[in-house]
Amino acid sequence: MEAAGATVLHLDVMDGHFVPNISFGTPVIASLRKRSKMFFDAHLMIDEPERYAEAFVKAGCDHLTFHIEAIEEPKAVVQHIRGLGVSVGVSLNPTTPLHAVAPIIELVDMVLVMSVWPGFGGQSFITEVLAKVEGFKARLRDNQRLEIDGGIDRETIPAAAAAGADTFVAGTAVFGAPDPAGAMAELERLAREVSETTVE
Ligand code: ZN
Repeated sequence: MEAAGATVLHLDVMDGHFVPNISFGTPVIASLRKRSKMFFDAHLMIDEPERYAEAFVKAGCDHLTFHIEAIEEPKAVVQHIRGLGVSVGVSLNPTTPLHAVAPIIELVDMVLVMSVWPGFGGQSFITEVLAKVEGFKARLRDNQRLEIDGGIDRETIPAAAAAGADTFVAGTAVFGAPDPAGAMAELERLAREVSETTVE
């Protein structure tokens, strides 16, 4: 994917507590780091993200996103992660309302809206979250990224881009395609087509 032009690698870390499945952790990320110059965007679907943040930074992550549902002191978690020298994002499950992150919305570099329930690949896109994407688009500064994760494919990416998302996580739509590089290029083209028309 890097050779095909990918600049960001989104890493879905699952702990078997915050979400039912376990995916991978810091040793796998550290071994990928040796082979890639991509920006490592870690999505921590884990309890106690502040406890493990340093280990993920040491493993080579450039960015850590934690879940608002997993923590109690959002400002402290943002400050802790930023203090480790990486950028920081906050993620919301499909039914978590926008106002849940209001206390830290100005402090984060990215908001990640989940468009499926975290913890499993291959689920269908939940259209209702697009209103939340629009709400964030209206509130975020230009230098804050708005990422969407779950069920992103050729059918859903235009609506996600039209709602204001600027960063799209695609798993199945890319890695399940016969030609992953071609699938990635096609998704990017579809998203750009929409953003270029909306920007005007
Ligand atoms: Zn993710």
